[in-house]
Amino acid sequence: MNDFICPKCKGHLRVGDNIIFKVKNDNKENGLILLSPQIGNYTSVKHPSFKYRRGELMDFYCPLCSKSLISDIHKNLALVLMKDEEGKSFVVYFSQIAGEHSTFEVDGESLRAAGEDAVLYTYFKIGDKFKKYL
Ligand SMILES: [Zn+2]
Repeated sequence: MNDFICPKCKGHLRVGDNIIFKVKNDNKENGLILLSPQIGNYTSVKHPSFKYRRGELMDFYCPLCSKSLISDIHKNLALVLMKDEEGKSFVVYFSQIAGEHSTFEVDGESLRAAGEDAVLYTYFKIGDKFKKYL
């Protein structure tokens, strides 16, 4: 089982089979959203009173330290750290747009993209930016 970790406070965001985020919608309403820890699985769970539209740009926050998880690569992409069972670290970038399916898993050498919308971001420049997180 991979661990998912806040890049800011290093707190664990994975609880059981969910990664927990605090999110803010366009109306500045806060809610909690649960995402799957499986890369490429875009099912999400939320309370029905928390509403957003498909295509809406959400803001993702760490539920522990409340810091923004926005990446410095693209305003649509948030990031979390992932550690696999062998202790290897990755940076996982994912879209903050509701209903958009794009995820990128990056380690020192390679990038793996998942989701049918990933092509939207293939122009982004990874460079050495992610290395500061590892
Ligand atoms: Zn945090």
